[in-house]
Amino acid sequence: MAGVLFIISGPSGVGKGTLVKMLIKDDPALALSVSCTTRAPRAGEQDGREYFFLTKEEFERRLAEGDFLESDEHFGNYYGTPKSFVKERLKEKSVILEIDVVGALNVKRNYANEFPRLALVMVVPPSLSALEARLSGRKSETPRERESRLERVNYELSQQSEYDYVVVNDNLNDAYAELKKIISQEIKQSERR
Ligand code: 5GP
Repeated sequence: MAGVLFIISGPSGVGKGTLVKMLIKDDPALALSVSCTTRAPRAGEQDGREYFFLTKEEFERRLAEGDFLESDEHFGNYYGTPKSFVKERLKEKSVILEIDVVGALNVKRNYANEFPRLALVMVVPPSLSALEARLSGRKSETPRERESRLERVNYELSQQSEYDYVVVNDNLNDAYAELKKIISQEIKQSERR
């Protein structure tokens, strides 16, 4: 395998999606992993670009065959990171997985041998109140939903020590520069090994 497997996580609203899009656009040596899901495509989504859209039966078959690095259920639909896709891409490029903390830690625990060139990066807000302010546009949220989201954010932030790098996204350009530096350092280091 030629590339490094990067996992990028962080609480919702922290800006990791924007950072990942910038990375992929900027650097042809990086590929983004495309997850599988059983949910229906939304308007404008293309099979193989945002997700691989699978039937429940197909997803369950692949799950039983062990083709997911990790998988989870969100809002009644299955989501999973396809191992075969990631391995195939890693032959030529470094691959970015944008997955949540639980998925990331599962990959770290279960695949340390299979993916020795693995780097975990967590993107965090400068403070909880800054994240709250960024998310305050979500007016549809009930107090209960807000509380459960905050609990999740607290859990995610509490797992920082499991990560190799923590990038604070206070200013997008600074966070991007830091992320780029981490990625190029990791790729260089792994080439030396
Ligand atoms: P959406 O349906 O809005 O695209 O995504 C719903 C949720 O599924 C999001 O929280 C997203 O991060 C999560 N998700 C997307 N792909 C994967 C995956 O491969 N594995 C896991 N564990 N979660 C995923």
